[in-house]
Amino acid sequence: MQTTVDARLGDVIERYWGYGSFRPLQREAMEAILTGRDSIVVLPTGGGKSLCFQAPALVRAGLAVIVSPLISLMKDQVDTLTGNGVPAALLNSSQSADQRTSVTAGLREGRFRLLYVSPERLAGENGQSFQAWLSRCNVSFVAVDEAHCISQWGHDFRPEYRQLGELRSRFPGVSLHAYTATATARVRGDIATQLGLRDPLELVGSFDRQNLVYRVLPRANLKRQLQEMLARHKGEGGIVYCTSRREVEALAAWLEGNGVRALPYHAGLDDSTRSRNQDAFLEEEIDVIVATVAFGMGIDRSDVRFVVHAGAPQSLEHYQQESGRAGRDGLEAECALIYSSADFMKWRLMLEKSGELTDGVRRLLRQMERYSASVGCRHRHLVEYFGERYERMDCGACDFCLGELEPVADAAVVARKILSCVARVGQRFGASHVANVLCGSENEQVLSRRHNQLTTFGLLREATSAELRGYIEQLVAAGFLRQTDDAFPVIALTGQGVELLKDAGVAGDLALSRQRRPVREREQKRSRVETEAWEGVDRGLFEDLRAVRLQIARARGVPPYVIFHDTTLRELARLKPQTLADLRTVYGVGARKAEDLGELFLAVLRGTTTP
Ligand code: ADP
Ligand code: ZN
Repeated sequence: MQTTVDARLGDVIERYWGYGSFRPLQREAMEAILTGRDSIVVLPTGGGKSLCFQAPALVRAGLAVIVSPLISLMKDQVDTLTGNGVPAALLNSSQSADQRTSVTAGLREGRFRLLYVSPERLAGENGQSFQAWLSRCNVSFVAVDEAHCISQWGHDFRPEYRQLGELRSRFPGVSLHAYTATATARVRGDIATQLGLRDPLELVGSFDRQNLVYRVLPRANLKRQLQEMLARHKGEGGIVYCTSRREVEALAAWLEGNGVRALPYHAGLDDSTRSRNQDAFLEEEIDVIVATVAFGMGIDRSDVRFVVHAGAPQSLEHYQQESGRAGRDGLEAECALIYSSADFMKWRLMLEKSGELTDGVRRLLRQMERYSASVGCRHRHLVEYFGERYERMDCGACDFCLGELEPVADAAVVARKILSCVARVGQRFGASHVANVLCGSENEQVLSRRHNQLTTFGLLREATSAELRGYIEQLVAAGFLRQTDDAFPVIALTGQGVELLKDAGVAGDLALSRQRRPVREREQKRSRVETEAWEGVDRGLFEDLRAVRLQIARARGVPPYVIFHDTTLRELARLKPQTLADLRTVYGVGARKAEDLGELFLAVLRGTTTP
């Protein structure tokens, strides 16, 4: 029995998706559906949750019902499925009466294998008659995507999800399956209770995203730091997260002025502008979206090659979620956090004002702060924070393991020089002023205060101002300095800092680090993932294939990644198949895609057309 089940699933993913194997836990998740056992599947973003319910929908007889919270997400998935030759449809409030009629007619005739619906359509008051109708459609199973939306403990609670609790009694013989990327046990328990799951199979995947390269940079000159990052990702898709709308607007305008195709996205824009900008990003009309965290769910663009945080988020959970939007296709991508200790101050003030600053929230903030200022493997830090063990010694994919950071010699001596400068300027100035005095910058501020006459002026001349600001951040995190809660935060000594000034022994094992210099493009070591992902790929050909993909996508009115993922284009540019049969063996080329698009891409591969 077991083997025939496996074989059918394997056939389906090969034939419709062109995939040769399962990702971790996908097979187990699919078998739960085939055997009708309730399940909760927790996989990180990009882990391949959709396939877990899409493939079994083609194996089990009847109609699979998929609950999904966002209209844009539903449409994307249905477009992708249809492109792969899978009969799928959706029902939501954005459709015209005609469209709805044609879908319901199709359902009655049993033409579809998957139906995507919104929670409010399926349950609650509006859902009653629909459920009655649906119960005649031979529903095979119900999958609840983004299931954490049902939990108040999740970061994205949606009241309309609560009504899904009635599904169990409405469809008593039908198994229920929940999917989420939120890992905490509390949320998981809540999902099971709210949905009334019976002895659910729990599958929790690893949260280490091996294809992501993590970097942390103390904020020095944000624009320059962004420029360096963008130079590494010319023409690629990326997200720049900011903490304020004002900064979103300013950076988006600045990027555009610098020839980067970028647009802003935040809750203060009117609906139509917002969705226009989002679409422009999804459809590759622009490369970079500058956004507040309002931009996120529903971003199915799988080839996001970098995510920059120009400011720290309020918890590592948020960071994981937001940075996780990079590299969903499994290819290399970069996640950079550019932070300053003022970010945490801002969060505390804001959360205090809104009455949300509980001890728990404070702890989360503190953990985020620790990640920012710590010096060590970022993958290890994240993985251990989320409660897994990390076995690797060298991840080969973070600033620390790539050797981009270096320890500062005589950290205690350097620390004491900084502390004494903070004392000299009377604990009345911000981090950049202190840094300027220490590196001996004769700027206007320094001169007008006569701080060029202090004994600490130029005391750390060998360091750059940016490096000094980095050290100050690290000393704040280590508890020797603190930043005041004012509108213009000032750096001051803590009790521990005063002690260190008196006695060098107090430093203990204090370590300070800085970015290795000079870090130039050509000197920067490539991450392991990056090297592997480009191995043997003809880059020029890859770009040509991308251009053709874009033309086809435009002509068909779908986002490019619905045509083919980057992973497939890279394989094509590596293997250069010349016949339809060869093309069909390439990762991500299913039977329908080969028939539908094969010749268009072969023409480029054979060099008979150029886009
Ligand atoms: P999630 O919903 O968990 O964030 P997705 O379902 O969007 O992840 O899948 C992420 C990417 O991985 C998609 O591009 C998908 O096509 C691809 N993928 C999923 N399963 C497989 C597989 N078994 N083999 C190869 N690629 C896969
Ligand atoms: Zn590492």
